[in-house]
Amino acid sequence: MGVSLMTRTDPYTPRERRPYECPRCGYRTTAADGAGSCPDCGTHLADLGVPRE
Ligand SMILES: [Zn+2]
Repeated sequence: MGVSLMTRTDPYTPRERRPYECPRCGYRTTAADGAGSCPDCGTHLADLGVPRE
Protein backbone atom coordinates (compact mmCIF):
# COMPACT_ATOMS: atom_id res chain seq x y z
CA MET A 1 0.00 0.00 0.00
CA GLY A 2 1.79 3.16 1.16
CA VAL A 3 5.33 3.70 -0.02
CA SER A 4 5.84 7.26 1.13
CA LEU A 5 8.09 6.54 4.07
CA MET A 6 10.06 9.71 3.45
CA THR A 7 7.15 11.95 4.21
CA ARG A 8 7.86 14.13 7.20
CA THR A 9 4.39 15.01 8.27
CA ASP A 10 3.88 15.70 11.93
CA PRO A 11 0.23 15.47 13.03
CA TYR A 12 1.17 16.63 16.49
CA THR A 13 2.51 20.01 15.46
CA PRO A 14 0.02 22.63 16.60
CA ARG A 15 -0.50 25.71 14.51
CA GLU A 16 -0.22 28.00 17.46
CA ARG A 17 2.07 30.81 18.31
CA ARG A 18 4.99 29.63 20.35
CA PRO A 19 7.34 31.69 22.49
CA TYR A 20 10.86 32.44 21.36
CA GLU A 21 13.62 34.01 23.38
CA CYS A 22 16.91 35.60 22.48
CA PRO A 23 19.63 33.78 24.46
CA ARG A 24 21.83 36.84 24.29
CA CYS A 25 19.74 39.79 25.42
CA GLY A 26 16.58 38.12 26.64
CA TYR A 27 14.24 39.58 24.03
CA ARG A 28 11.03 37.59 23.83
CA THR A 29 8.41 37.21 21.14
CA THR A 30 5.95 34.70 19.77
CA ALA A 31 5.66 33.22 16.31
CA ALA A 32 3.66 30.49 14.66
CA ASP A 33 6.40 29.17 12.40
CA GLY A 34 9.86 30.31 13.34
CA ALA A 35 10.84 33.65 14.81
CA GLY A 36 14.08 34.23 12.92
CA SER A 37 16.56 36.59 14.52
CA CYS A 38 16.41 39.02 17.41
CA PRO A 39 15.52 42.55 16.24
CA ASP A 40 17.83 44.00 18.85
CA CYS A 41 21.07 42.07 18.51
CA GLY A 42 20.50 39.74 15.56
CA THR A 43 20.99 36.53 17.52
CA HIS A 44 18.96 33.55 16.38
CA LEU A 45 15.94 33.27 18.66
CA ALA A 46 15.61 30.07 20.66
CA ASP A 47 12.36 28.13 20.65
CA LEU A 48 11.07 27.92 24.18
CA GLY A 49 8.55 25.26 23.20
CA VAL A 50 5.55 25.06 25.48
CA PRO A 51 4.26 28.44 26.62
CA ARG A 52 4.65 29.09 30.30
CA GLU A 53 2.31 31.00 32.50
ZN1 LIG B 1 18.84 39.74 21.28
